[in-house]
Amino acid sequence: MIIVMKPTATQDDVKSICDLISSLRYQPRVTVGTEQTVIACIGSEVNPQIVPRLETLDCVQEIIHVSKKYKLVSREFKPEDTVIDIKGTKIGGGNVPVMAGPCAVESYEQLRQVVVDLTAQGINVIRAMVYKPRTSTYDFQGLKDDGIRAMRKVKEEFPNIAFITEVPGPNQIEGLMDVTDVFQVGARNSQNYDLLECLGRAGKPVILKRGMAGTVEEWLQSAEYLMANGCKEVILCERGIRTYETITRNTLDLGAMAATKRLTHLPIVVDPSHGGGKLELVVPLSRAALGAGCDGLLVETHPNPKQAFSDAAQQIPSASFGEYMAAIRPWLDLAGQAHA
Ligand code: PEP
Ligand code: MN
Repeated sequence: MIIVMKPTATQDDVKSICDLISSLRYQPRVTVGTEQTVIACIGSEVNPQIVPRLETLDCVQEIIHVSKKYKLVSREFKPEDTVIDIKGTKIGGGNVPVMAGPCAVESYEQLRQVVVDLTAQGINVIRAMVYKPRTSTYDFQGLKDDGIRAMRKVKEEFPNIAFITEVPGPNQIEGLMDVTDVFQVGARNSQNYDLLECLGRAGKPVILKRGMAGTVEEWLQSAEYLMANGCKEVILCERGIRTYETITRNTLDLGAMAATKRLTHLPIVVDPSHGGGKLELVVPLSRAALGAGCDGLLVETHPNPKQAFSDAAQQIPSASFGEYMAAIRPWLDLAGQAHA
């Protein structure tokens, strides 16, 4: 249930409603919008007694019953787009940034080179994975602590960049806190509820990838885990799903992306690299994602993709990232306008 307050409602009114909700053993979650404040009432089932009590209050404009399992992430709760600011790069509400970086951190030199090449293109939000949860246990699993040290060193040299990094489980959150600006939950972990609850309390933005075979409902419920546990800055990422088609690595589900934007106020970025799995598909899928209204792109790039420890086939050579940017520029410019 969502309580929409009248525009004239005072902070005391909001507090008294929150107290009432808490006394009935629900958790209130308050969002202050530009015009109105809304209060989500979190609890397993709505106690029917609460509704008539709330309806009689002067400061309450409307009570919306949300039967969906996701509430805080829903457009009913917050109609306007959420804009997330990562060290000056805004995502959502008409801001459509390109974020990029290597599939995995392989050395200090490799990471530094990518950062040099990307910052030259005005890209300051950089993915840098030190944990690589792989389908095969025999594949490269990430540099782990050595990778964290490389990230720290690069960050000291480039203090204005922001790092996105994947966290594979609750035990790795603490060790990544000082080097990462955004946590990523990978597709394989998108329904790891213990991780989502712990990350919700970690106090940093989270990029939540859609599960390998996850439905939109499951994806949004995972986002709800993050928000219900305190995370205010959740970015969804469509990275393709498993279908019968094998010509692409995954089937990039742009229809679901566009449909999901109607259900949630959270920004949705698209990962065209894992979506297609092939270098030659990154430009067309990026253009398609921008045309379909995504809030940003998350792209893989490497100084020397042929030698990459993981995902060699899909990474853009970082020295030619400018060519990629030029190839998608008209779509990027239109994407910004479309949202305006
Ligand atoms: C990644 O972004 O590094 C990654 C492994 O992607 P996904 O979780 O979408 O497979
Ligand atoms: Mn990868």
